[in-house]
Amino acid sequence: MHRLIPLILAGLLAAAPAAQKKNRTSPLGYTDTPVLPEQKWKVHDIDRPHPPLVTPGTPAGQPPSDAVVLFDGQDLSKWTALGKGPNRGKPVAPGWKIEKGYMECAGGTGDLISKEKFGDAQYHVEWAAPSVIDGTSQWRGNSGVLIMSRYEMQVLDSWNNPTYADGQAGSIYGQWPPLVNPARKPGEWQTFDIAFEAPKFESGRLTKPAFVTLFYNGVLVHHHKEITGRMAHRAVGTYAPHEPEEPLMLQDHDTAVRYRNIWVRRLKGYDQP
Ligand code: MG
Repeated sequence: MHRLIPLILAGLLAAAPAAQKKNRTSPLGYTDTPVLPEQKWKVHDIDRPHPPLVTPGTPAGQPPSDAVVLFDGQDLSKWTALGKGPNRGKPVAPGWKIEKGYMECAGGTGDLISKEKFGDAQYHVEWAAPSVIDGTSQWRGNSGVLIMSRYEMQVLDSWNNPTYADGQAGSIYGQWPPLVNPARKPGEWQTFDIAFEAPKFESGRLTKPAFVTLFYNGVLVHHHKEITGRMAHRAVGTYAPHEPEEPLMLQDHDTAVRYRNIWVRRLKGYDQP
């Protein structure tokens, strides 16, 4: 027998009992640990409340159990619309078509407005620009996810589509380009996952701006970015006081675009103790 083999066997036998240990117990928390800075809780505090249970969506991207589903492919019952042309700004019935599990804006029927209102929230939105390219720059699948009906995460076909940087898909329109461009090809489904902190107003004055984090096709393109103000075209958008919760808006920019699987999670009530 090789001289090393008994040594290897002895080593394996010595390691085996540790790997087979079962029914080990561990404390459920501690009372004798230091207090965390700027918190009232100790490290591993046994008395610290636990977060509520939420069942995640399966597969990932589907709504978790605490989400408000705004569109599941069936109907537009959670939406109203704002007219265009002669009906500009007036409430009208949503004119977007329902197709096979998605809704389609043909252009010209008006922005969709959610009936429910949201403030601090997580948003999941899937969208697709037309597979047939027709137009340039801002005329290729232009739409937008306007959080609180004001703060626009730009939707656009940004696959080989030169346009101004703060107007490409994933930009905070007119303010900040995305950190990178993770666009898929026109016609393919794309995702926005957004964490939004609503602005705060007191006595008609802004006391805290809005902040946004955006994952575009799973890629971080804004990391807790401060928003300058409401969406504006060829102007600097500023803040004007509004309610703590406002509707979500999907923009009708007179170009075709599709949406599916839209849900929102209110973050109110989930503050860490
Ligand atoms: Mg837009």
